[in-house]
Amino acid sequence: MNSPGSQVLFKGKNEYDLLVIGGGSGGLACAKEAAQFGRKVAVLDYVDPSPQAKIDFKKLPFVNNCCFQVVIRILANIGTITIVTAENIVIATGGRPKYPTHIAGALEYGITSDDLFWLKEAPGKTLQVTWKNTDLGTEETDSFDTVMWAVGRAPDTKTLNLETVGVKTNSETGKIIVDAGEATSVPHIYAIGDITEGRPELTPTAIAAGKLLARRLFGQSSELMDYDNVYHAYYKPLEFTVAERDATQCYIKMVCLREREQRILGLHFIGPNAGEVIQGFALGIKCGATYPQLMKTIGIHPTCAEEITKLHITKRSGLDATVTGC
Ligand SMILES: Cc1cc2nc3c(=O)[nH]c(=O)nc-3n(C[C@H](O)[C@H](O)[C@H](O)COP(=O)(O)OP(=O)(O)OC[C@H]3O[C@@H](n4cnc5c(N)ncnc54)[C@H](O)[C@@H]3O)c2cc1C
Repeated sequence: MNSPGSQVLFKGKNEYDLLVIGGGSGGLACAKEAAQFGRKVAVLDYVDPSPQAKIDFKKLPFVNNCCFQVVIRILANIGTITIVTAENIVIATGGRPKYPTHIAGALEYGITSDDLFWLKEAPGKTLQVTWKNTDLGTEETDSFDTVMWAVGRAPDTKTLNLETVGVKTNSETGKIIVDAGEATSVPHIYAIGDITEGRPELTPTAIAAGKLLARRLFGQSSELMDYDNVYHAYYKPLEFTVAERDATQCYIKMVCLREREQRILGLHFIGPNAGEVIQGFALGIKCGATYPQLMKTIGIHPTCAEEITKLHITKRSGLDATVTGC
């Protein structure tokens, strides 16, 4: 809304080919790809500081124009509003950490992953936490240096006023509803990444979706993002740990169809460099690899990953799957 006396700058209809709101993983990938096609692109990036923010993002420039041909200024001076128009708009504003606001002091004293990287040192013993163990029905108390909430993330779609233009969101999750081509319910408005309903919340998928969208919009491509069989690491601090098991062992489980060609459905690997190992096998699984094909694959020795090519004991057999030699 214009405040009284503010100066409004309007530079004409469809000043840009693409306007990206949110300059994170997906937004920047989309913008850079569109710029490769010689298109005029603007990226707007802004975020409200977290309650414990060490840096006030509001003081940072509102517009991120790095690496693009165009330079625009929006709200650069108080009292100046620049109206930007574009033929296509991509919303890629991601998500923000959730706070358990029903817990007193959660906002004032807790931090989230947004604040984690700004911590210079541990703040000392500052807070006492009491919680109920719902299994045992007991109440327990302890003191901690820092309380970090890690209770999930939520899209901040409310502040975008999407209902004004009619972009539909899921009323429960707040995420933007898109079709297979990342199009929202409003023509020329698209959404990618964590802000979208039903998509994996991962950097590589947001980047790939952004690039493919730009190619469809400006590169005469019709290739859609394939969200099936997206493999990713689970974020465990120690990828080589299974509770109460010997840490010198790898643990591998492959899930295959028992019928017909025994297609591989999934692969679990707990061991050194698990992410690297899974990245390679992800290609095979994406290409529809089967168990017999895996058995024909010659392992690379000596590696942990070669054990996957030797898997032969089924859970149903009840046999001991421990590897005894190399
Ligand atoms: C702690 C943490 C660790 C993670 N680790 C991994 C990992 O190891 N591997 C992995 O694949 N994924 C990881 N993720 C997930 C990954 O970060 C996201 O899936 C990915 O960044 C989503 O990209 P995006 O473009 O949708 O949003 P983001 O990259 O979050 O970008 C959103 C951008 O929009 C801006 N913005 C927000 N609101 C507005 C607004 N109103 N106006 C303008 N700009 C706005 C923000 O400033 C931000 O720059 C992690 C996430 C977190 C929180």
